[in-house]
Amino acid sequence: MTLRLDSTETGIATAARLLREGGLVAFGTETVYGLGADATQPQAVARIFEAKNRPRFNPLISHFADADAAFEQVEASPLARRLAEAFWPGPLTLVLPRAAGCTVSDLAADGLSTLAVRVPRGDVAAALLRQTGRPVAAPSANRSGRISPSNAAHVLEELDGRIDAVLDSGPCAIGLESTVLDLSQPDRPCLLRPGGVTVEALEALCGPLHRPATQSDAAPLSPGRMLSHYAPGLPVRLDVRTPRADEALLAFGPQDGSSPAAMLWNLSESGSLEEAAARLFSGLRALDHAGTARHLRGIAVQPIPAHGLGLAIQDRLTRAAAPRPSSANPKENTLP
Ligand code: AMP
Ligand code: MG
Repeated sequence: MTLRLDSTETGIATAARLLREGGLVAFGTETVYGLGADATQPQAVARIFEAKNRPRFNPLISHFADADAAFEQVEASPLARRLAEAFWPGPLTLVLPRAAGCTVSDLAADGLSTLAVRVPRGDVAAALLRQTGRPVAAPSANRSGRISPSNAAHVLEELDGRIDAVLDSGPCAIGLESTVLDLSQPDRPCLLRPGGVTVEALEALCGPLHRPATQSDAAPLSPGRMLSHYAPGLPVRLDVRTPRADEALLAFGPQDGSSPAAMLWNLSESGSLEEAAARLFSGLRALDHAGTARHLRGIAVQPIPAHGLGLAIQDRLTRAAAPRPSSANPKENTLP
């Protein structure tokens, strides 16, 4: 059952507690209703993809009560600080390099070395984020491929029974997504998505923005296709029933102990796709590091069921297994 919480002190406190406990809480911002989860808990983030029925993972924006909290997680350039001063709280998302002590899970950032951060406008959202005291990952609170919700009733039409609560703060003021600005290359601010803050307003502070002119120009920048995604150094082989003795095995489900693989890391012994999603990046990293140290030939991956979160896991693994680019040309870093 999905709780409908009013934006009273008690409602906000309950919503914050649910988030800290790993729950899913939809909440209103000035743009649209977001489906929030504690970004530091991969299992909570996995539930976002599950509830939205997303066929693939994508990097999520982390939301904060104020700029100080946001800038603990990323390396903020002077330009980022000026933009935050001018537009936060508000519908501007900044993509910046992750800070060394960044606590946001790999799953929330889809393994990227950058993180998208935003401070939304609105007293209820601010109070919720302050009380939660963690980065809150929040894509729009609709099922994948559907229209973004701009009030609590829309959220329930989409997600009733699939999420723990919706915190009702009335209709959204803007109803349009945030503008996404990539500042990860300091000299080249790049507009990834137009939105609530206009290009003119941004250019007044940044100078001319780089704007990917065509779909193919944008492709190298569009998340999910970039080299900066975590990709294991070892080759990855998918759908493997019988691994070789010189491979590391990324397993799924109960094992009978007969695998010849040199090492094994199980995404979920019980066969839970949610647990597997939450453990995917740690598993790849663990096998990559240990397997490289032991000079193994590669990582073999057992079959993952092709339903629910399994599709998103398969998609991510397919990208991890794709041939590596042969040169530094970023166009070669994209997948078809
Ligand atoms: P939504 O899920 O609707 O809030 O959209 C989030 C937007 O932010 C998508 O367009 C993402 O691709 C983009 N985004 C999130 N994180 C990053 C990142 N690290 N680098 C580039 N774009 C990002
Ligand atoms: Mg959306």
